Amino acid sequence: NADLAMYHAKSSGRNTYQFYARRMNEQVTERLLLESHLRQALENNELELVYQPQFAIKSRRLVGCEALLRWNHPEHGRIPPDRFIPVAEDTGLIVGIGRWVLNEACRQLARWRDSGLPCIPVAVNVSARQLARHDFIEDVEHALRENGLEGSLLELEVTESTLMEDPDMAAGQLARIKEMGVRLSVDDFGTGYSSLAYLKRFAPDTIKIDRSFVCDLPDDSEDAAIVSAIIHLAEALGMDTLAEGVETEAQRQFLGSLRCQLLQGYLMGRPQSAQEMGDLLASRKTVVIDGKVTAADKA
Ligand code: C2E
Ligand code: MG
Ligand code: MG
Ligand code: MG
Repeated sequence: NADLAMYHAKSSGRNTYQFYARRMNEQVTERLLLESHLRQALENNELELVYQPQFAIKSRRLVGCEALLRWNHPEHGRIPPDRFIPVAEDTGLIVGIGRWVLNEACRQLARWRDSGLPCIPVAVNVSARQLARHDFIEDVEHALRENGLEGSLLELEVTESTLMEDPDMAAGQLARIKEMGVRLSVDDFGTGYSSLAYLKRFAPDTIKIDRSFVCDLPDDSEDAAIVSAIIHLAEALGMDTLAEGVETEAQRQFLGSLRCQLLQGYLMGRPQSAQEMGDLLASRKTVVIDGKVTAADKA
């Protein structure tokens, strides 16, 4: 009997092992495939930016947009960024891809401007590996100059973990970025280390409250307390707050009552093509040109 039990344990153990080995193999293969395809994505014109509008909560004006990357794979269709950005970061491909994103976002702003549409700031996500590059500052300067854009029309979004990875490097780079008038926002705020010391040190223009704190508002009292505290802190430090992932009218009203200034989410607008975003720009009479929030928006 004991022998028999042992036999079962061994064989099931081996099966389990084989099962995991096979799954790991599949995952490794998938990743390698993704990586080799991603290497060609840029040359093959498979990357695209979509734009999600950002609104001032009080005036309801369109005040900016965030550029979000999409990969249109010829066989697998649209691959979401959460699946390929980590691969791009691990392999270093993010440097070239990120440079393309920066240039394309600025080119698009210039295209809208050249067709007579109002200029709104565009926010671009920046990975740690991009920020760490010596030539990152030149890349930003180049993208602005080539397209005849003022620095204040560009915003860079970095996450807490990017700032914490190498704070001295980040501080040096971001100081130079700010000298160009480029705006800075902290993305996914509250999900990383959330060191308050770095808010003081990096002095971002905007704090983007992560969607995970917004989705259960206004019912979840803990999330409400966290969001309220973030907004008060930001206000005291002279920073604006943007709530990410706003999907309901109840969330919008609650955030307004807490004096959050900016909103981004499916309720107001999904990420959309450059063409659709252009149509949205055409439909607005007034937009903020210099800086996101004006006194009127705060009143
Ligand atoms: P993120 O920068 O925090 O972008 C916000 C994400 O939330 C976007 O997902 C957006 O589509 C989604 N979102 C916006 N409003 C709502 C809402 O109301 N409900 C829900 N459920 N989701 C909403 P997306 O486009 O899939 O991007 C995911 C992440 O990929 C981004 O998070 C960002 O971290 C990264 N990413 C996207 N584009 C780039 C890029 O060009 N460079 C880098 N380094 N990362 C990027
Ligand atoms: Mg972002
Ligand atoms: Mg975010
Ligand atoms: Mg994110």
